[in-house]
Amino acid sequence: MRIPPNHPRRESLLLREKIVEGYKRGIVALEGLIAHGRGECFDYLLGEKTHDFAYEAIRAAAAALLLAEYPVLSVNGNTAMLVPSEIVKLARIVNAKIEVNLFYRTREREEAIADWLRKHGATEVLGVGEDASATIPELFSERRRVSPRGILRADVVFVPLEDGDRTEALRRMGKTVIAVDLNPLSRTARAANITIVDNIVRALPILVEEANKLRKADRSMLRRILEGYDNNHVLSRALIAIKNRLERLANSKIVLDIS
Ligand code: ATP
Ligand code: MG
Repeated sequence: MRIPPNHPRRESLLLREKIVEGYKRGIVALEGLIAHGRGECFDYLLGEKTHDFAYEAIRAAAAALLLAEYPVLSVNGNTAMLVPSEIVKLARIVNAKIEVNLFYRTREREEAIADWLRKHGATEVLGVGEDASATIPELFSERRRVSPRGILRADVVFVPLEDGDRTEALRRMGKTVIAVDLNPLSRTARAANITIVDNIVRALPILVEEANKLRKADRSMLRRILEGYDNNHVLSRALIAIKNRLERLANSKIVLDIS
């Protein structure tokens, strides 16, 4: 499909095309298309921009990843399709492992995602096939399989666009969980230690830049960033931002002039 350059929803339509391409490539699951739609809805409410509370969460996320002893970036189909290069860059900067971790796990999709990430510069991708031989307690079936060299061992796990059950299970295992989720009310957003309420396509380049800036910082400074961080306050600001924006819009002229 050709999207006109001046189309008011061009960016959003281009992302949709990417997700659909991911589906055709066997990277994105059918359910991933629905998850993307839910994200779009919240992005609309947030005004499709990175807010100050997201910047604050991104800074805390960079600090947590840099302080981690064994950080792991968990990648699903949507994340692989939308920000493959940024995942590879972030892994390099914070010295993290990359692990494929799917809600709807199939060997074909795992391989397709790992190939796609390697095509974008990843040298090692965990969690494919027999490598995902360990299990997360309390989760059922295929959803609980993880790599013993990856998420199982990790102290800090980065889980963009994750599901609530798994986020909660990772927390109960004592891990520090960093989420990216446009919905401040999802269980993922509410269960994570650090929640970046922003579109992953905007948040990841900023996170890469921030991690790059902070990589030379003292550990004591990174610890101070984390100590000053309050996820409840960040989620609360996200909800207030939505409320204020809707109030402003409701008080202005809503109908379009069509001539
Ligand atoms: P939970 O299981 O955490 O309660 P959920 O069941 O409502 O959440 P899921 O389908 O499990 O939703 O997870 C997808 C989540 O990813 C949604 O909350 C959605 O808002 C979010 N999301 C989708 N696309 C993006 C994106 N591009 N950037 C950030 N978040 C996104
Ligand atoms: Mg869910």
